[in-house]
Amino acid sequence: MNISKEARDIHYSALVVDTHSDSLAWPTRHGVDIGQPQEKTHMDLPRMREGNQNVQFFACFASPSWIENKKVVQVTLDYMDSFHTLMRDYPDQIEQATTADDVRRIIDAGKLVGVLCIEGGHSIDDDLSILRMYHRLGARYMTLTWNNTNNWADGVLDEPRHDGLNHFGKEVVREMNRLGMLVDISHVAPATFWDAIETSIKPVIASHSSAKVICAAPRNLDDDQIRAVADNGGVIGVNYEITFVGEAYRVTKAALDDEKTEAVKRAEKDHPQDSDSLKSALREIDDLQDEKVAELRKPHYTEIVDHIDHMVSVAGVDHVGLGSDFDGATMPEGMEDCTKVPLITDELVRRGYSEGDIRKILGENFMRVMEEVLTD
Ligand SMILES: [Zn+2]
Repeated sequence: MNISKEARDIHYSALVVDTHSDSLAWPTRHGVDIGQPQEKTHMDLPRMREGNQNVQFFACFASPSWIENKKVVQVTLDYMDSFHTLMRDYPDQIEQATTADDVRRIIDAGKLVGVLCIEGGHSIDDDLSILRMYHRLGARYMTLTWNNTNNWADGVLDEPRHDGLNHFGKEVVREMNRLGMLVDISHVAPATFWDAIETSIKPVIASHSSAKVICAAPRNLDDDQIRAVADNGGVIGVNYEITFVGEAYRVTKAALDDEKTEAVKRAEKDHPQDSDSLKSALREIDDLQDEKVAELRKPHYTEIVDHIDHMVSVAGVDHVGLGSDFDGATMPEGMEDCTKVPLITDELVRRGYSEGDIRKILGENFMRVMEEVLTD
């Protein structure tokens, strides 16, 4: 990888905190050992070391569609078991942290750091005792929702039911404050965002969200929200997902998705239900969609840094970090996996950021929030 000596020196001596990856899905759902080199994934322990992505938040995600089967807690625990199994199998390479002090101690010992976190407040099954047990197992942040609206908070891509957080939702935030667990507003609806800001007595974070002014994806944060997180003392981890980073890509991809939906509807009308002819028509639609998407020009990794630049200009340099969404997102050109993260440092150097500011963005900002909020 071609990066400047200055960038290399900074990056490989820095705490590089990545506040969101979905990589635990690989061991949990597919039996893949991410302690060993893998080809399909964005991350594994050897590549984390290669890219010096040395402090990783690993998300547990039970799809809300499983709630009806009453499996949401079980699946979350399966993810946590995968995490603890990884720590147990590779004790000389990675260790679990639950506090900022842990992080520094483990880094000084020359190892990678793993921190557990939860994606989607529905995972507590509306029960504060389950939240407390997740904290006991090491979970140190929870997004109040995933894209769905749960029984106490509105999600960003679903019908609102609570005008933000309901009474119990505010109790969840207060209990997280009390426990020493970070309140994460990535994925929540705007009304939930403002209720969380108002209710939390500790800094809130956005573990994986980018800037809406640059790319209008509903998952991104507008400037008022970015400023509110900063005023609150929190940090926003910029998400690398291509439909959150590049506006032109997002718009074109959304139009293709709409075309596909229409084509599926037509096929379902033209062919008998469950017929072989319907199946082959749907397959053709899928293949055509894949071809068209493959032809789109993906955003370039330097566009991730455009989001960092924008957030720094709105909120100041103390409130921006990295939240890749590796293994849960499609990556920009040049950011194929976590070995490419030093390129972000290189781009920050190229754009004139000081060494101190780069270290803040790479991890020290998030360390500050961890020091303030996390407890054992
Ligand atoms: Zn997510």
